[in-house]
Amino acid sequence: MPTLATKSSPDSAEAIERAEVAVLPTGSTEQHGPALPLGMDHYAARAFAQEAATDDAVLALPTIPVGVSPHHMQFDGSLTVSPETFAAYVRETIESLATHGLRKVIVVNGHGGNIDALSQVARELRASETAYAPTWNWWDAVEDLADDLFDEAGGHADAAESSLVWHLHEEYVDPDALEAAEADGADAWGERVHGANVGFDTIDFTESGAVGKPTQASPEKGEQLFDEAATALSALADWLAERPIDDCWQRAHK
Ligand SMILES: [Zn+2]
Repeated sequence: MPTLATKSSPDSAEAIERAEVAVLPTGSTEQHGPALPLGMDHYAARAFAQEAATDDAVLALPTIPVGVSPHHMQFDGSLTVSPETFAAYVRETIESLATHGLRKVIVVNGHGGNIDALSQVARELRASETAYAPTWNWWDAVEDLADDLFDEAGGHADAAESSLVWHLHEEYVDPDALEAAEADGADAWGERVHGANVGFDTIDFTESGAVGKPTQASPEKGEQLFDEAATALSALADWLAERPIDDCWQRAHK
């Protein structure tokens, strides 16, 4: 499995030369209710990135494990960095890879709170023709399957996330706590009042920290989610590998 961090510096030259696309896992370390580990989002991102790096065309980068999570800070153990810090860290990591010649990167993201910063970074890197770095969120790749498997509106530490991490890291999941996660949780994200979301922090609308129906989770469903999302990521990597870098930059209007 081609992973940058396991190579010696001389060996990395060949790995980078052979690679068409890098995959950069980003996630968070934040509360996911009483049943799931804090590392849920970065464990997921890392697993997808490693799965994508099956041949020399895709090179997995080290995981960025702390993300933008200010809305979870009332819960024990949650870590956060500002959007500016996170964006700078991701951008400079990709810029440094680009100096070695690899300029097509898929940011394999596991945390919704990172999305705005990642979009901004991708836009800046593209505008400067430094790198082309679209974001891939695993849950977007399995929307239809998740609808089939679960009766939930989606949320946080929900059935989909619980299933996925149960499949990936059974040792970190406490299945007996899924019931409390759901009972003291919320059905949907946020708190709507006359059309406005007045739920700024997770604690504003969920006591357990969970949103959704985590009791519907199982490791078997997690394996289905993993396989389907991994297939999509692999197809995206193939697409990007084939795409000439000059076609990735901003276009002028004709
Ligand atoms: Zn999560």
